[in-house]
Amino acid sequence: MSGARRPRPARPGADRPDGEGRHDITRVERRDVDRERGEPLAHRERGATRPRATTRQARPLAEWDTRPRILITNDDGIESRGLLSLKQALEPLGDVTVVAPDTNQSTVGHQKTLMRPLRVRERKLADGSRGYSVDGSPTDAVSLAFLGYFGVTFDLVASGINYGANLGDDITYSGTVSAAMEAVINGCPAFAVSQEYYQHPDFSLAAAAAHTAAVNILEHGLGPGELININVPAIRAEECEGFEVTRMGQRIYLDQLIERLDPRGIPYYWIGGPPPSGLAEPGTDFHAVVNRRIAVTPIQLDLTARRLIGRLRSWEWRLPDEG
Ligand code: MN
Repeated sequence: MSGARRPRPARPGADRPDGEGRHDITRVERRDVDRERGEPLAHRERGATRPRATTRQARPLAEWDTRPRILITNDDGIESRGLLSLKQALEPLGDVTVVAPDTNQSTVGHQKTLMRPLRVRERKLADGSRGYSVDGSPTDAVSLAFLGYFGVTFDLVASGINYGANLGDDITYSGTVSAAMEAVINGCPAFAVSQEYYQHPDFSLAAAAAHTAAVNILEHGLGPGELININVPAIRAEECEGFEVTRMGQRIYLDQLIERLDPRGIPYYWIGGPPPSGLAEPGTDFHAVVNRRIAVTPIQLDLTARRLIGRLRSWEWRLPDEG
């Protein structure tokens, strides 16, 4: 037998007494098993290339020569009704692509998965449209998109609608806001949208707010490192007092350490307690939402504490053995 590669027989292994080719059969069947489980193994389009480095210039929507490309993600997972509401709110504005974690990833922050592989699955959303889920974090979902998974880049990333507000200090935990941050790191304008939690959320007000935010960002643009965090009160649209541009407020966390015993009598711990409160200072996101307004908070990735720079420079900065 020569080492040259032969064309594959029509029925692998059927005419080979040596059994060569049986390996092929096994592999084909194994793939079918994966599909029958309802786990289509999504793979990126053939010929997918790295996306363009820069997004298109912001300008009035009437002047866009092609529809804006909008990436939709969240941290509550692909099956979240908030994600579907966000997708449906932005669909009239452009071509939307949905990619989100396959499970609830709330409070994972800006986690990125580097120490294990990521699996992507093609999913059917509740409205029958196609989406993609990834067995990782919100940041992983956005990273996939900007590392060329879809073979295109995006003009806007929208993250949400989160079940529960992301006010003040919450954003340091928030997977919803982190997904938007990941977009900004990739040079794409982004916003996060969250709604105060209540039992049976109606996302229509938050969806309308997201639509307004998307239009504004596509038309006016954001500077490098800038994003917008939107928080919507849990009220009906007719009860809402409009938008307010705010600053980050201060949360008051009421976390409690819950200690219980496992079936073997060994204690385990669970961070629980009532939901957080906050300082209702005028001008803050928390104050706006408490007063039935939609809080629009500009955020930047530059976390430098500028007022502290001068003080730090006045301190002694010398290694111990420098004398
Ligand atoms: Mn969440």
